[in-house]
Amino acid sequence: MPLLTVQHLKKYYPVSRGLFARPAQVRAVDDVSFSLNSGETLGLVGESGCGKSTLSRLLLRLEDPTSGSIQMEDLELTGIKGEALRRMRGSFQMIFQDPYGSLNPRMSIFSVLEEALKLHTSLDAAGRDARIRELLKMVGLNPDYARRHPHQFSGGQRQRIGIARALAVNPKFIIADEPVSALDVSVQAQIVNLLQDIQRETGIAFLFIAHDLAVVEHICHRIMVMYLGRLMESAPADALCSDPLHPYTKALLSGVPQIDPSKRRRRIILKGDVPSPLNPPSGCRFHTRCPFAVPRCAEEIPEFREVRPGRFCACHLVEKI
Ligand code: SF4
Repeated sequence: MPLLTVQHLKKYYPVSRGLFARPAQVRAVDDVSFSLNSGETLGLVGESGCGKSTLSRLLLRLEDPTSGSIQMEDLELTGIKGEALRRMRGSFQMIFQDPYGSLNPRMSIFSVLEEALKLHTSLDAAGRDARIRELLKMVGLNPDYARRHPHQFSGGQRQRIGIARALAVNPKFIIADEPVSALDVSVQAQIVNLLQDIQRETGIAFLFIAHDLAVVEHICHRIMVMYLGRLMESAPADALCSDPLHPYTKALLSGVPQIDPSKRRRRIILKGDVPSPLNPPSGCRFHTRCPFAVPRCAEEIPEFREVRPGRFCACHLVEKI
């Protein structure tokens, strides 16, 4: 059984456009389905505004979905509230893009980690102290630094602290939201390697949100590509990066710099900006920017279907492009 099963998840936000105007909705997440296994890293990529952040807030149950289902093992998460939700929160955690912004500058690292342990575990003071030392060692920091404050660490060290905070309560699933994009390239590799080591040791599942496809390809087992609230393609990372099927994935990958000349692709420049989710294009949401669009694309929503074993794509012309 997968650790996480998401089915037909939707989040629509009502928007007021004046007293006499027809009510409108922003379709931030629209009919998204996927699953995630323990010990697996699933990448989620797409331009800003595609719904990645809304999807992660829904999975963390920081917002209620409009409809659809989120199951962790055999427990349905969408209906739970109050104390049951608070207890479940220990199972899923988040690593943020900006580790400095997510750490209270007035709290020592010890206090940051102890706060999480007090909230989600029954450890006594000695147990918390031992666990904090263990966590700092696990993320490659000297446990003797526990009484220091966030400003006394470098950007990479602060991200290690963010990872330690997420690990503090033994989660089953972590959403890593652009965890390395604010870091220097040399430090990015260290953090990516750290996350892979932690996954090997603990079996935690990651949803890794990023716009840098090179990083996603390196760390993820599978990748999902999202556009205007809908999934366009999902496939094992190596298959998606070496042989993308959806025109949007092809365009995203064509912009990734390649050192190896044999892997270089013809650059596909997409026309225009991402349309507003308040008034998304009819049919295929990508049709206003797709270089392969035919009249059918503006009329009929392509089904997100398995087109090859383990490969899903939402495109009418996938077999022909
Ligand atoms: Fe392009 Fe049509 Fe495929 Fe959409 S369905 S990606 S518009 S070819």
